[in-house]
Amino acid sequence: MADQKRTTCPYCGVGCGVLVTKQEDGSVQIKGDPDHPANFGKLCSKGSALGETLGLENRLLEPKIEGQTVKMDEALNVVAQRFKETAEKYGPDSVAFYVSGQLLSEDYYVANKLIKGFIGTANIDTNSRLCMSSSVVGHKRAFGSDTVPQTYEDLEKADLVVLVGSNLAWCHPVLFQRLKAAQKERGTKVVVIDPRRTATCEIADLHLAVKPGYDVLLFNGLLNYLAQNGAQDSVYVDNHIEGCEQAVAMAAEQASDYQVLARQCDIALADLMTFYDWFLKTEKTLSMYSQGVNQSSQGSDKVNSILNCHLYTGRIGKEGCGPLSVTGQPNAMGGREVGGLANMLAAHMDFTPEAISRVKTFWDSPTIAGKPGHKAVDMFEAVHKGEIKAIWIMATNPAVSLPDANRVRKALETCEFVVVSDCVQNTDTMAYANVVLPAATWGERNGTVTNTERCISRQHSFKELPGEALPDWKIITRVAQKMGFEKAFSYETSYDVFAEHVALSAYENEGTRDFDLSSWQGLSREEFDAIEPIKWPINNNPKDRFFADGKFYTASGKANMLAVDLKAPKHTPTAKYPYVLNTGRIRDQWHTMTRSGLSPRLSSHLHEPYLDIHPDTALKEGLKKQDLVKVESKWGEAILRVKTCDTVKPGELFMPMHWNDENSAHAVVGRLVNPVTDPFSGQPESKHTPVNVSKF
Ligand code: SF4
Repeated sequence: MADQKRTTCPYCGVGCGVLVTKQEDGSVQIKGDPDHPANFGKLCSKGSALGETLGLENRLLEPKIEGQTVKMDEALNVVAQRFKETAEKYGPDSVAFYVSGQLLSEDYYVANKLIKGFIGTANIDTNSRLCMSSSVVGHKRAFGSDTVPQTYEDLEKADLVVLVGSNLAWCHPVLFQRLKAAQKERGTKVVVIDPRRTATCEIADLHLAVKPGYDVLLFNGLLNYLAQNGAQDSVYVDNHIEGCEQAVAMAAEQASDYQVLARQCDIALADLMTFYDWFLKTEKTLSMYSQGVNQSSQGSDKVNSILNCHLYTGRIGKEGCGPLSVTGQPNAMGGREVGGLANMLAAHMDFTPEAISRVKTFWDSPTIAGKPGHKAVDMFEAVHKGEIKAIWIMATNPAVSLPDANRVRKALETCEFVVVSDCVQNTDTMAYANVVLPAATWGERNGTVTNTERCISRQHSFKELPGEALPDWKIITRVAQKMGFEKAFSYETSYDVFAEHVALSAYENEGTRDFDLSSWQGLSREEFDAIEPIKWPINNNPKDRFFADGKFYTASGKANMLAVDLKAPKHTPTAKYPYVLNTGRIRDQWHTMTRSGLSPRLSSHLHEPYLDIHPDTALKEGLKKQDLVKVESKWGEAILRVKTCDTVKPGELFMPMHWNDENSAHAVVGRLVNPVTDPFSGQPESKHTPVNVSKF
């Protein structure tokens, strides 16, 4: 059909395919793409409401300098000049980019190249830091590469699915539907490990409401149980694993008394043993983990404690059998692919001397970053300290979403030069910008994204660019040209960027890295436009699985099991702050609601911010349903409505993360959240902040 476009949903990491058909009245019809391997035609409430979010209300259509509308060229001149001057005067590390998993891979690529290869600092980080960076560390420590071994198909092939820290029903709804259907079809057992009894528990055969922060202990106990019951795949371990003895010894030392362990994890002993027994006896076990694992001061260790159990039993890279990290954003994987994280260089390369030299040659860069830059939370701390003097924030709203958001706001207030490029106006972050730049959004952009199962799909535009809005890659390209880097930034379309990204992934890569798009070299523009969703490794049969052959990307070619030790969250409840605040998504909103908030249908699901509180805790605090309460932590406060429920345990609270100054100034969750991060990944501990509550 001539007026139908195939694209992908811009919300979560499931990466559903979407068919957009223009209607005669100018509206569009949205349907799931039956041929996309992520969703086979299904969409969730958010995806199916996309047509309601395409209006120009609240769109940023013109650039502004200090609040005054200017022409794009003038704004870009100022941005280029100020970044150039700042880097020359204070050194390259005085500038930073904070980017987003909402960007397409082509946007990410150009931003990464400009700052790392031409300004000469690795101060580029992404809001994906808040989402999946602990999984990246876990993967790299275990596999030598940030490779996701499993794919969505495994949901339909597994006999046991263990969901750890994942409210799949609300956060990745189409995957939840696939699991539910598989359960009906083949009787898949489902275990949910989550302090809350979430909507996902609807299909759980077993729910373990683990004490927040105790997952490492739970999985060390599992590893010990597997060892005690002869579950080691000795051939696999002997040939393909290092560190097994140490990991098993640590597990035995820490978690051999299951009665004590059950008490420590706040789980009934019988339930704990049932889980261990099911895992022991079920070869086809898929462990899916998400933010409850990642957003923790011990997130990386939690990931490795899960990976240990799969490596020990050789249950990895096989049909229905292995670990699968479920990420939040549509292009969290694409950002990782181009290296858009402060601790990566480019194309899945780290800051090794060889990689630095390889990328420098490929880019012909005059000055290339030689070491990792600041990760998200540290980046804004460096802004606060005045070390970073110019920052460009693209497609994200850190004044709401970062932990200790009050401090982030102070940092931005005092920063010498703040640029915000976004598709919407009036975000909380924009209030601190010296220059705002109008960016293209879903429906106007062309490029690629990579979803949770490393499937690369096309996003296609189906609308004209409104006002002076431009795609992010183009805005960055024009700034780079104005900084004097015309030759290296001569892209005219996103295809040109994609072709270079492909070439870099293949450059001096003789199968030594997991990420390699070399078979796309020489792809024509028409072929680029016609790319079908495909999972990497694209150079082999796409159905090939990573690690089934026992070959890993470490120096030895073997995977690592890590001896991981439980470390309790840094901030524990005190007399002043006696409760633990957990945060997360609701079903029908996305991030800080800039798009999903435009749909009345979506907003009617849960229309105001709220606090889940157990009836016993409410009674203790003299609170009842519908009361307004003040929630206070050491870092800030919020005011919101009480919802008494037994989905949280006594002493634990839950608050959604979406509301912001624009729609509910007193319920910005980031103001409350502590800024402690995982020491390896830099991912914040967004699910464990001590707070108190009182009637407002
Ligand atoms: Fe699919 Fe996620 Fe979009 Fe829902 S929000 S349609 S699950 S990609």
